[in-house]
Amino acid sequence: MEEHGSKIPSASGTYDFIVVGAGAAGCVLANRLSASGRYSVLLLEAGGEDSNPWIHIPLGYGKHFTNPAVNWLYASEPQPGAANRRIAQPRGKVLGGSTSINGLLYIRGQREDYDRWRDLGNPGWGYADVLPYFRKSEDNERGADDFHGAGGPLCVSDPKETHPLADAWLAAAEECGYPRNPDFNGAIQEGFGYNQWTIRNGFRSSAATGFLRPARRRPNLRIVTRAHATRILFSGTRATGVEYLRGGLTASATARLEVLVAGGSFNSPQLLQLSGVGPAPLLQRCGIAVVADLPGVGMNLQDHYTARMVYECNERCTLNDVIGNIPKSIGAALRFAFLRKGFLAMGQSFATGFIRADPAAATPDIQTSITLYSFDKPGDRLHPFPGFTLAARLLRPESRGSVTIRSADPLAPPAIAPNYLTSEKDCAVLLAGIKANRRLSQTPAMRRYVAREHDPGPGCESDADLMDFIRSRGGIAFHPAGTCKMGSDAAAVVDARLRVRGLQGLRVVDTSIMPLLVSGNTYAPTLMIAEKGADMILEDIGSNG
Ligand SMILES: Cc1cc2nc3c(=O)[nH]c(=O)nc-3n(C[C@H](O)[C@H](O)[C@H](O)COP(=O)(O)OP(=O)(O)OC[C@H]3O[C@@H](n4cnc5c(N)ncnc54)[C@H](O)[C@@H]3O)c2cc1C
Repeated sequence: MEEHGSKIPSASGTYDFIVVGAGAAGCVLANRLSASGRYSVLLLEAGGEDSNPWIHIPLGYGKHFTNPAVNWLYASEPQPGAANRRIAQPRGKVLGGSTSINGLLYIRGQREDYDRWRDLGNPGWGYADVLPYFRKSEDNERGADDFHGAGGPLCVSDPKETHPLADAWLAAAEECGYPRNPDFNGAIQEGFGYNQWTIRNGFRSSAATGFLRPARRRPNLRIVTRAHATRILFSGTRATGVEYLRGGLTASATARLEVLVAGGSFNSPQLLQLSGVGPAPLLQRCGIAVVADLPGVGMNLQDHYTARMVYECNERCTLNDVIGNIPKSIGAALRFAFLRKGFLAMGQSFATGFIRADPAAATPDIQTSITLYSFDKPGDRLHPFPGFTLAARLLRPESRGSVTIRSADPLAPPAIAPNYLTSEKDCAVLLAGIKANRRLSQTPAMRRYVAREHDPGPGCESDADLMDFIRSRGGIAFHPAGTCKMGSDAAAVVDARLRVRGLQGLRVVDTSIMPLLVSGNTYAPTLMIAEKGADMILEDIGSNG
């Protein structure tokens, strides 16, 4: 079934709210705005139902990197800072959006990230302001405390079992003098420990399963899948509706109150630009009439560039040893089926460390992690040898990129130009990060497991060679942010209430509004943005009558 909601006769009708995109943010908005029963909500999603079982089995994320049925399969422009490679940019195209294909890590970032947002001129977005919204979404299996919530739609859980290789890596961290931290989302982020994952009873806790499933029977919520929004409709400077393509036909729906754009950091600026909201010269070049000249739409793109070092392991205890080995694969399947344990129940990385690679940094600037498998690049087959990966992820990049339409064709992918590693500081911090990873790999605690460094390998020693490795072999964490940034400067796209500047009846509510990328992962922060966004929308609607 592709359409839901009975009270509303036609998807082409009039709704109080139209939400574009059923990803992290869109699912929260659909749930919270329809909860009272007072407002009608239309949720348009370009992808289909989340019925592929591999969406729900945690390890399934490996299968979705190259699956066009659930993934937009974007790629960047050739990146001068990354050896002129096009870097794959997976994005979920399915109910749940990227939360249906992501790596399941639950990491919110640092208190200082949100305080910086506030200090940039965004009242109400400091850490003390946003913490209640993180807690509201959360159902942490450890229970509620000052930092965590219980009973919310998003389940956050600990790995059901430890792994000897991850234990050895955590011991290695202690040998290197790093502190242990059982909760990266608690009082402080710095230190090493096991990850918490967005998993409920062994299955992925996506935004679709957590927020949409309980809401979809509400008569005032209509969900239309395979509906690709192509244009926001305006009357003067007021957004009045959305035009979309479904099954090759153009349809449109009217918004009585607001249009809420939640297409993610690539598609939200794309849709605004297609609709005449963006840098005037770009729009004019594409033959699009300008509704609002907002030069910041699509600018300020940031992501977590990541260098991955691969190690051959002395023991056959990695996922590489299971995939392709029939008896071991059957064993893993049975462990998952009966106990909800083992590799199939695993998030992308097992344990993480937040370190200050630059000793002058006030808070951690590198996220390091151990992944119990290895490959040449995401989406490739795993290596044929026992292997694991130590990743170093640059937490607060200075490099900035852009997302721009190439033409007025709404189905053409936008040009994604992240400009990775164009800042010297980014390079220096990442270089220090991979040196820290190498030190971890050379500790007594890791000796039992490390047979040899496979990538970059022992011959790669000088800073210049290591930097070459980072540029030619690095990837990203798939956390694009910032392309419709919140603020009050000339490049800001939305104000602190997420209203598109200079227009009425239009907000952007998703990862793209982050003025600065957070020093963590982006699923939980995007839920927080939408939780807070929903409250602000309901307040504003209430106060306007
Ligand atoms: C491979 C991968 C791994 C990741 N790993 C992690 C992780 O381990 N932990 C973590 O915290 N974060 C992770 N993330 C990031 C996290 O999932 C995203 O930051 C988050 O989902 C973004 O939320 P969003 O609402 O902005 O966009 P999305 O969740 O991407 O949702 C946008 C939705 O809008 C739809 N849409 C877009 N354009 C249109 C249109 N024109 N018409 C109709 N619908 C449209 C899309 O199909 C999609 O469903 C990962 C992401 C990926 C891709």
